[in-house]
Amino acid sequence: LNSESLFGFLYIMSGPKRLVYDVLISGGGAAGSALAHRLITANVARNAISPLRIGIIEPQERSISKDIESTQGRIPNARAYALSPSSLETLGLNSALKGKLGEYEVMQIWEQNGPGLLHFNKDDVSTAELKSYNALGAVVEDRDIVSGLWDALSTHENVDLISGASLKHIEKISRTDDSVKVVYEKSEEKIEAFAKLLVAADGGNSFVRNTLGMSTIGFGYGRRAVICTVKFDSKDSMHEYKRRVAYQRFFPNGPIALLPTFNDDYGNIVWSTTPEEASRLTSLDSTEFVDELNDALQTGPTLSPPILSSETLSRLPPPLVDAVRGVEMLGQSISNGLALASSMNSAETFRFPPMISSVEGRRFAFDLKLQHAKKYVGPRVALIGDAAHTIHPMAGQGLNLGLADAECLAKCIKMAIDSGMDIGSSTFLDIYESERQKAAVAMMAGIQCLHAAFSTEFSPAVYLRSIGVNFVNSATPLRQTLANVAVGNAGASVTN
Ligand SMILES: Cc1cc2nc3c(=O)[nH]c(=O)nc-3n(C[C@H](O)[C@H](O)[C@H](O)COP(=O)(O)OP(=O)(O)OC[C@H]3O[C@@H](n4cnc5c(N)ncnc54)[C@H](O)[C@@H]3O)c2cc1C
Repeated sequence: LNSESLFGFLYIMSGPKRLVYDVLISGGGAAGSALAHRLITANVARNAISPLRIGIIEPQERSISKDIESTQGRIPNARAYALSPSSLETLGLNSALKGKLGEYEVMQIWEQNGPGLLHFNKDDVSTAELKSYNALGAVVEDRDIVSGLWDALSTHENVDLISGASLKHIEKISRTDDSVKVVYEKSEEKIEAFAKLLVAADGGNSFVRNTLGMSTIGFGYGRRAVICTVKFDSKDSMHEYKRRVAYQRFFPNGPIALLPTFNDDYGNIVWSTTPEEASRLTSLDSTEFVDELNDALQTGPTLSPPILSSETLSRLPPPLVDAVRGVEMLGQSISNGLALASSMNSAETFRFPPMISSVEGRRFAFDLKLQHAKKYVGPRVALIGDAAHTIHPMAGQGLNLGLADAECLAKCIKMAIDSGMDIGSSTFLDIYESERQKAAVAMMAGIQCLHAAFSTEFSPAVYLRSIGVNFVNSATPLRQTLANVAVGNAGASVTN
């Protein structure tokens, strides 16, 4: 680590050590480290008088390895994210992530209780959105992202990686102060640091956001996500055809996602459900859990459920029964017609996911909540990643949003430097906030609609949903538009 090295900007004064930075990032997870890396790779400081001095404070001890870790013999880890090509480009870790990506060319989405089936294919997406990748996206482990970024950052002498340290105090500042002062503690030593811009990338329970009284709005979804790694059945003869697909089946309690990993023999599960069901799933023995997973995933689209139960129908006069049956048949015919049209258009039919033979390691469960900071910026402060917003993982967009925040903030800092202005100036921070809040709110609204649409069991709504899903699947331009949005850069940027 170079954190204790003598920088040109380290002053030993009477009392505590003092460090001076341009950008000080609290939180060296994926979003915070990606911001530091982007500030370097995008040549942000090119027009600055001196190189940008960047510090990252991270409570977890992190070791730096100059050798790229091999994945040989390694079982994939479930703490992994589905990232879009734009996000992978923001990370800029092509060689460090080589062989560590679970790429997918197809996304297959279907429902438990109806005929709705949707396929996004990489051919639906423009080459501009695919960047240099030949896939809709890729699943990458958190540890590979973070260690790749820290290894890359450790080679830059103007980046100070301070691990095993946490922020203890932030001095309240006003818009006229020319720096923000923080105190952090490392090995029981208190160190003062000054920065032109303090970035909170310290996760959903952000110390910076809470200490500065930046309030949030939100609610719990009343759902938990059970995550784990699974091994595929090597006897599954169709294994090859089923690879490079991100599967997601929606149940009223939430979706189950089966995602590829860097090793074709393994997949990752994200199963969102009620807290009671999550406790039951984590306490099942592994054979029972695997059986439940296979049962849940090995069923394709079904017929629509009856609008009214046979008991209710038996109490209705015959003309009304005929009318209900007629509506059911009409709904089913529309769905069948759209499914036929889709198969003629895209030649994609339902793919049965790979059979799962075992669970590898532990199953973890996380509470799911929506949380949104009312302000993303304050005097000399900006929030990025989960510190700014936390969303349901059903669309796999949380870190994609966080990386787009990092990209946008790096551009705003560059704009400030290029125009010879202060990087902590509200002029540029306000641009960042306006862009990123718009993108996050749009994403949250979209996810909320999906959550509501797929959690209903009200039959007429289920009919409409199935028809809607199959309509999108069959209407190629609409499907392509949605596919481009799904793999896009988590919100178009006016700073592009
Ligand atoms: C089940 C599940 C599945 C998900 N799947 C996906 C997916 O497929 N795709 C996707 O894009 N997103 C996904 N997400 C969302 C994703 O996990 C988060 O959006 C992402 O991890 C946020 O990254 P971050 O760097 O902002 O925060 P974090 O990863 O939480 O990192 C915060 C960092 O700050 C540090 N820190 C904490 N306190 C302090 C402090 N006081 N001072 C300094 N540092 C501190 C922490 O140690 C940590 O390193 C999923 C989330 C869940 C729950």
